[in-house]
Amino acid sequence: MKLRFSIMLLCVSLTALLCGEHFFQSLHVQSDASYIKWVEFTIPSPILYRAIELDIQSRNEEERVDFIEVLSYLAAKNGGNFKKVTQADVAKAADFLKSNSPTDLKQFSYYLNAYGAVMNGWVGEYEAEQKSDDGTAKTVLKYGLIVRHPVKGYYSDSDDFGNNRSYGFQRKHQGHDFFTSTGVPVAAMEDGVIEVMGWNRYGGWRIGIRSFDGMRYYYYAHLRKDTPFAEGLAEGHTVKAGQTIGYVGQTGYSFKENVNNIQVPHLHFGIQLIFNEVQKDGNNQIWIDCYQIAKLLSNPPAPVIVETTVEP
Ligand SMILES: [Zn+2]
Repeated sequence: MKLRFSIMLLCVSLTALLCGEHFFQSLHVQSDASYIKWVEFTIPSPILYRAIELDIQSRNEEERVDFIEVLSYLAAKNGGNFKKVTQADVAKAADFLKSNSPTDLKQFSYYLNAYGAVMNGWVGEYEAEQKSDDGTAKTVLKYGLIVRHPVKGYYSDSDDFGNNRSYGFQRKHQGHDFFTSTGVPVAAMEDGVIEVMGWNRYGGWRIGIRSFDGMRYYYYAHLRKDTPFAEGLAEGHTVKAGQTIGYVGQTGYSFKENVNNIQVPHLHFGIQLIFNEVQKDGNNQIWIDCYQIAKLLSNPPAPVIVETTVEP
């Protein structure tokens, strides 16, 4: 018995020695199973819009509306199904939450965390240039929707999340395709840090940007042959929402670099959620449906409140 225990101890020590830091990291991760493993994001764009509008409009009011809290409350009430939820229901929920706490509602905290991971960077303060009547520009602090549409031009799209794809291996489409012309500028949806930039067998010329809170990874793929990226960008650089990061093209589906193997020019756009770093790569990735997000960002913008002028 004693011998068997010694052998076991030796094996554990050897494994730890061989795998180094990763061995202890994976031990730690296995014991912590509390992070979220699955998120479905299907809130219709008019519902998203109304919640965001109420949040922004309440900016200077005593009782603030938090759009993520409102949407989480509605999700918890309706089992995550927004099919019958109206814009009037959103306003009613916002009113209700001004004097009531939904914390006893089953699943409320799940939705708060899940939707927070998707939308935490969407609404807030940001600096912007504003032209005065006399033509001079000044910098102002605004409060509103910060995120921007990833395509700077006309496009067509459909709800194609989860469709079958067969290049390489049978799999599901983990993103959203915007069909447009080669060369149309691609914008960063949210501020963040460029995590990867270069060639990938599937995505072709692609760029991956991580939000500052680490929870969202934005993936922009099939960029233009020869000149895929905006000039001066590199891994580790910071980008702003709306900043041009590259150009639409049709590269990808090839081991060889800089090959146009995608049939029609389009931007493949994906949003991955990361509650724990083990979800970044491998089999347990969470990608969300971006169709309603694209609709929200292509419609007339949500209201914006100008706060103050920023002194130069
Ligand atoms: Zn795609």
